[in-house]
Amino acid sequence: MKEVILIRYGEIHLKGKNRGYFEKVLINNIKNALQSYNCEVNRIAGRYVVQNYEEIDREIIIQRLQQIFGIYSISPATEIDSNISDIEEYVKTIRLPQNSTFKVEVNRADKLFPFKSYEFASKLGGVILSQNNTLKVDVHSPEHYVYVDIRESGKTYVYYKVIKCAGGMPVGTGGKGLLLLSGGIDSPVAGYQLAHRGMSLSAIHFHSYPYTSESAKQKVLTLAKLLSQYAGDFKIYIVSFTKIQEAIHKYCREEYMITIMRRIMFRIAERLSNKHRFQAIITGESLAQVASQTVESMTSTNEVIKVLPVFRPLIGMDKDQIVEIAKKIGTFETSISPYEDCCTVFLPEHPLIKPVLSKVHDEEKKLNIEELIKEAMENIEVVDTKDI
Ligand code: ATP
Ligand code: MG
Repeated sequence: MKEVILIRYGEIHLKGKNRGYFEKVLINNIKNALQSYNCEVNRIAGRYVVQNYEEIDREIIIQRLQQIFGIYSISPATEIDSNISDIEEYVKTIRLPQNSTFKVEVNRADKLFPFKSYEFASKLGGVILSQNNTLKVDVHSPEHYVYVDIRESGKTYVYYKVIKCAGGMPVGTGGKGLLLLSGGIDSPVAGYQLAHRGMSLSAIHFHSYPYTSESAKQKVLTLAKLLSQYAGDFKIYIVSFTKIQEAIHKYCREEYMITIMRRIMFRIAERLSNKHRFQAIITGESLAQVASQTVESMTSTNEVIKVLPVFRPLIGMDKDQIVEIAKKIGTFETSISPYEDCCTVFLPEHPLIKPVLSKVHDEEKKLNIEELIKEAMENIEVVDTKDI
């Protein structure tokens, strides 16, 4: 008899022939997430089971499992050999609160087990009642459940609760994306959303030292670290944007600052993607949130992207919906600490809300964009979330 944690995975079941692949990625992700704890993760009859962990790590392991995409639910459980007397002996030790109602639910995956599910459930119900005569069975809306899962492996699992987890798809099964990560509320949430669908992440951050401070950069690294709890470890490419912004400020009309800046960010993001085989660019834009997030502005940034899709998972969300997710995933508090974003440096008084492409092209002709991008690309600093 021992204490284990049962893991159920959801949508993976739908993936037919690819199922083996999805399962392999998921178990690797689970092992990576739990690598700092002494424990084993095994596959037992269509479930994963975490076992042989130190009792003291149990809560933190449960917490980590809830952050892994592809896991549907988990249950702390007691594992018993599947024979009637062992199960009954264990069930005798179950203590439910006085004067409450309960139901035993048996799942018999092992069809050789000598009792049918409902027969065994009522037998075990009787055993529990024999230990505590203040309890009552209620099969319709019990206050407590006792689940008994008899697997084909010769093991039975008894548990009391099903803890809902993050769901989604295992990170790594949905391609690779490059997240434009700022220090704000939105972009970490955007990264979370795509990782939730199985996309593995890398991030790119533009900073304008000395206009933006070292602590603004640190803040972005902290956000990346928080995101890595869900997305797994990833690299952050830090690009100095200072010279580019100075050049735009010097040569282009003021109201075009943000439009041109964002077009150059996107160009750099796509080049970096080509180099490292990222397959999509991800941003935290939401329609109409600010001047640079109108459909015209997005048309102007999309125009410079040659091949890759640009994913904007927050496009139809209100700020309060985004804030709710940021709070849930634990990035909100860091995001709202004060910082300067490079987008706020040389901020024009009246940014263009509806940039016209031909005019943007005219402004860009005043710059040596190729040269500016080349220099920025040559001086990228790379930080791994592992090292933060
Ligand atoms: P966020 O809260 O994510 O900073 P925001 O509401 O402040 O977003 P913008 O500043 O217009 O909006 O940025 C829109 C998106 O552009 C961000 O969500 C992010 O994906 C990207 N972005 C903005 N600034 C940077 C930066 N310094 N480095 C990398 N990406 C950035
Ligand atoms: Mg921002």
